Amino acid sequence: MARYTGAVCRLCRRYGEKLYFKGPRCFSPKCAFERRPAPPGMHGLRRRRVSDRGVQLREKQKAKRIYGLLERQFRTVFSQALHTPGMTGENLVRLLELRLDNIVYRLGFADSRNQARQLVTHGMFQVNGRNCNIPSRLLKPGETISWCRTALKSEYYKGMVRGIQGKERPRWLSLDLQSLAGQVMTAPERQDVEPMVKEQAVVEYYSR
Ligand code: SF4
Repeated sequence: MARYTGAVCRLCRRYGEKLYFKGPRCFSPKCAFERRPAPPGMHGLRRRRVSDRGVQLREKQKAKRIYGLLERQFRTVFSQALHTPGMTGENLVRLLELRLDNIVYRLGFADSRNQARQLVTHGMFQVNGRNCNIPSRLLKPGETISWCRTALKSEYYKGMVRGIQGKERPRWLSLDLQSLAGQVMTAPERQDVEPMVKEQAVVEYYSR
């Protein structure tokens, strides 16, 4: 599946906030946004008036980048959210959060969603005891995620085990620290997700 392969630090500078694409580097003084917070490009510092439509477009683009989706994939998720009962914006955030790659990231198995996606496509995980290498697989409450047997022998796994204890996890996920198996306890609510994504602007963008 295609994905964005451009420079990710530019995206943080473009959207004017840290989007944490690079794991530990994002929390270090090497972070490009800390060093040069201005938008990229030669006219980055020029003041521009942004229309309402421009703000909506920016929020949609930002949400897409945060979860590592391209336009068509994002549009498909939005359409699913639209046809699910309830508030479209909240449905959208929930559908994005319940993706397998995002859950791998949220459980602390990876430092970024990009890395999580790579681990999933390399076949490192099982969902409900069966191998799954599809990053867009949506998990439901009650479903479990665990490492597959070959992944347990990998150097990555050994390094990850050492650092996972201190990581925070959202309350809608649980993790057994012995077996490193995770479970979705409930579907995430809007307040469980950080407010980086302004889902209302995304809904307005697609509603025109
Ligand atoms: Fe963004 Fe800084 Fe992380 Fe680069 S290092 S992705 S600028 S938060």
